[in-house]
Amino acid sequence: MTTPHGFGSAGSQVVSKRLALATGNPHKVQELAQILSSHWPQFDPQWVATMADYDLAEPVEDAVTFAGNALIKARALANVSGLPTIADDSGICVDVLGGAPGIFSARWCGHHGDSEANLHLLLNQLADVPAEHRGANFTCAAALVLPSGEEVVREGVVSGTLLTAPQGEGGFGYDPIFVPDGYQVTTAQLSAEEKNAISHRGKAFTALLPHLRRALQDL
Ligand code: IMP
Repeated sequence: MTTPHGFGSAGSQVVSKRLALATGNPHKVQELAQILSSHWPQFDPQWVATMADYDLAEPVEDAVTFAGNALIKARALANVSGLPTIADDSGICVDVLGGAPGIFSARWCGHHGDSEANLHLLLNQLADVPAEHRGANFTCAAALVLPSGEEVVREGVVSGTLLTAPQGEGGFGYDPIFVPDGYQVTTAQLSAEEKNAISHRGKAFTALLPHLRRALQDL
């Protein structure tokens, strides 16, 4: 149980919330906690409040860039939490589709929340595209919004190619069809540590980390 003002009361320890994370996606919460912990041994996942702690509905992501949408999410939660707030927006950009699905990756099949339908639609669209033209990248914009109003955004990209059928059980979203450059397996076949070390999200949040650490020290 966590109060909106950020004091967890689960178990015997009461941990003050120091940072808010604007995502409702449990896979992202987990990946982010792993990324931050791996670069920052003192980082404690219990510092993190999420949208659920504030009963905040997902804001409408009507910007046309990853950075714009990440800022919409971070600003919305920063406003209600009063805490340094991070958010990301990410997606898969396919060369032969001119960078689509891009910011529409989460709703490529026409509605939110159906990763299977998104993945199979993309596979069908690319059915006749030969291996040498199946290049794609995952892109992530990581945003930090501070109570002072300061805003920082950093981007990370991982390039690769798309398979014609899913492989692997790990990860989420389009991971089962994405083979990063230099690898023979999909990001769904990598361990969490291996994926985070090369991923778009890993790169974006690693670049944001110095700003985040400074913001938390200033509290
Ligand atoms: P967002 O939650 O609005 O940032 O949407 C991101 C969407 O892009 C997800 O729903 C996935 O479909 C896709 N995506 C982003 N990052 C990844 C990843 O690391 N692996 C697989 N799919 C991803």
